[in-house]
Amino acid sequence: MLDKAIPYWQANRSPHLEGLKTFLRIPSISALPQYRNDVARAGAFVADHLRWLGLNDVAVVTGNEGEHPLVTGQWLGAPGKPTVLLYAHYDVQPVDPLEKWESQPFEPTERNGKLFARGSADDKGQLWILLKALEGFLKTGEGKLPVNVKLLFEGEEEYTGAHVERFVDGKPAYLNGVTSALVLDTGMFAPGLPTICTGLRGIITAEVTVRGANRDLHSGEFGGAAPNPLQALSEIIAALKTPSGRVRIPGFYSSVLKPSKLEKESWSKLFFDENTYRQELGASGLIGDSRYSVLHRLWALPTLEINGIAGGFAGEGFKTVIPSTAVAKISLRLVPDMDPDEIAQAFKKRVLSVSPPHVQTEVKILAASPAMVIDTADPTIKAAADAYKDTFGVQTAYVREGGSIPIAGSFKSVQGVPVLITGFTLPDCNMHAPNENLDLDNFYKGIEAIGRYLNILGQ
Ligand SMILES: [Zn+2]
Repeated sequence: MLDKAIPYWQANRSPHLEGLKTFLRIPSISALPQYRNDVARAGAFVADHLRWLGLNDVAVVTGNEGEHPLVTGQWLGAPGKPTVLLYAHYDVQPVDPLEKWESQPFEPTERNGKLFARGSADDKGQLWILLKALEGFLKTGEGKLPVNVKLLFEGEEEYTGAHVERFVDGKPAYLNGVTSALVLDTGMFAPGLPTICTGLRGIITAEVTVRGANRDLHSGEFGGAAPNPLQALSEIIAALKTPSGRVRIPGFYSSVLKPSKLEKESWSKLFFDENTYRQELGASGLIGDSRYSVLHRLWALPTLEINGIAGGFAGEGFKTVIPSTAVAKISLRLVPDMDPDEIAQAFKKRVLSVSPPHVQTEVKILAASPAMVIDTADPTIKAAADAYKDTFGVQTAYVREGGSIPIAGSFKSVQGVPVLITGFTLPDCNMHAPNENLDLDNFYKGIEAIGRYLNILGQ
């Protein structure tokens, strides 16, 4: 099978890239309501493509009010072979600040061997890699795959992820018989270095709302007596962390699991220079507990970050206002074995306890999911390392990710199957930022690597 697929992938690089560009032109921003129809359009585009590939039972699964659809489809024509659940997402992040983009985010543009567009790396480009890998088998020979597959693509990974979580938690018949899962939504540690992710941090997202007076006030008329929610919010935020970056929530670090000796060893072999890292960020310094290496801080320690603050007036010109409300979006990254619900409650308690008495503070927990680690000795993980060696010619690196992919944890805990978390984006892919890009060589090699992976699993 592979002997026909490999020349097919090589001969079809150009149509594969053009197909991806068409996909990327759909602005499927899940978090902004005005793009709702575009997200639906991207889902329908994927479903159409699955039908064209020859997959069976292709469906666009609508969710509750306000949720974006899932796209499913399967091929079960290899009895006795493993059944691999393939996951990716077709929604994207918003594009702000638009002026920082060198080309339009939804007009895919090639520059220096990279394809620039929102979603090129995270995650539409990788979803497309999965489909093109399948295509190499389905469109050559007799329309067969080396393994059975079940596809699960979501349209709100960058928003709430609620629909897919509920779908998986409900143990639908669709997922019966799955033997392993592949989550294609991460990247490579360095150019040319195929990478498997062995651990992900969990996440808590929260919204803190502080209310002062019942309306916005003039700071000349009322300043000095009226409470200022922005000031109060700043005081609350300042009380959540020490200047060295240690989070000040009682019990926050008590169940943090140390990385294994093996992990620490493999991390020390990775080429990583903290100073280069800092320079690449363009920052004058790094934060965090300096007793730990940067990689350790990124992969095996929890964090608390302020993601945004809103309130008052920050536009051009000036408005002497004491706002009635201030809001902060705050996220916490968790590591094994922190309990997300316990930590969420401890966070809430801490915020309320440091909130000044002259304001009313409300903490809303939006999402809470645990961290996960995977077993590098699992045969499905080894199969991926072998496929990568065959494609890239070098040994695979095992890393952890600082980010969170809640669905990977669900596949492991609800379906009870091994999960391969991997991907082909590069560190400078600008995921979630302006000038997001996908290295084209990795796009083509990624297709081949996934094809080889499925082929090994089928043997
Ligand atoms: Zn993603």
